[in-house]
Amino acid sequence: MVDLRGVRKSFGALEVLRGIDLTVAPGEVTVLLGPSGSGKSTLLRTINHLEKVDRGFVGVDGELIGYRRSGDRLHELAERHILRQRTHIGFVFQNFNLFPHLTALDNVAEAPISAQGRPRAEALSEARELLGRVGLADFAEQYPRRLSGGQQQRVAIARALALRPKLLLFDEPTSALDPELVGEVLDVMRDLARSGTTMVVVTHEIGFAREAADTVVFLDEGRIVEQGPPDQVLDAPREGRTAAFLGKVL
Ligand code: ATP
Ligand code: MG
Repeated sequence: MVDLRGVRKSFGALEVLRGIDLTVAPGEVTVLLGPSGSGKSTLLRTINHLEKVDRGFVGVDGELIGYRRSGDRLHELAERHILRQRTHIGFVFQNFNLFPHLTALDNVAEAPISAQGRPRAEALSEARELLGRVGLADFAEQYPRRLSGGQQQRVAIARALALRPKLLLFDEPTSALDPELVGEVLDVMRDLARSGTTMVVVTHEIGFAREAADTVVFLDEGRIVEQGPPDQVLDAPREGRTAAFLGKVL
């Protein structure tokens, strides 16, 4: 489903991704761990072309992201094609990023109506179902400012699902939440994982990684240091750097 090959990315003189090869199979959950500044967010953002790669390429569901190939050269796609590709890749951010002037329901239904041209009634009815799925059936008419952080993040997840994405990306979805609200968001993410959603999740929630991940990837200084099933990477890391990092977060 996701295929990164030789991905490199620099900001000025700083090389943030130094040759990333990563494959995520359909229906699998990959958790990305690593110290601050190791390139986790940048890696996630290359997957939907929020960051352009300098070298290498990103494929999602067999489609090259951001480029088309002609002969052995790559040409960047026009903005409208990139936006279309992004509608297949849901992104959940740390800070929810809901539209403050729209109700929960309209936040969820907005993109299907405006970006996908789906009939309004159908989009609203599906948005209601999705709010139910994240436990917010009774909050459809509320504005974001009236919702807790955990509720807002669940709306953001419903909104990402509304585009029926092939893939969901999460960048530290619980790290802006008060501790007592983390669980309700992780519960929703566990349900998604169980129902076979392909997900790439940056998180320091090791418990979630242990239960929900098929693969845990440890990134340091722009390189994948090790990857494997959670019991191997989390409980018996092969690399000293992984063990040192886990020692700090566990
Ligand atoms: P954190 O755990 O703190 O979120 P991260 O692993 O997500 O860290 P990134 O946000 O990917 O790390 O950043 C990796 C490095 O790239 C950092 O040194 C950061 O300062 C730098 N960086 C990220 N985005 C930019 C940008 N747009 N311009 C310049 N430097 C950037
Ligand atoms: Mg980050």
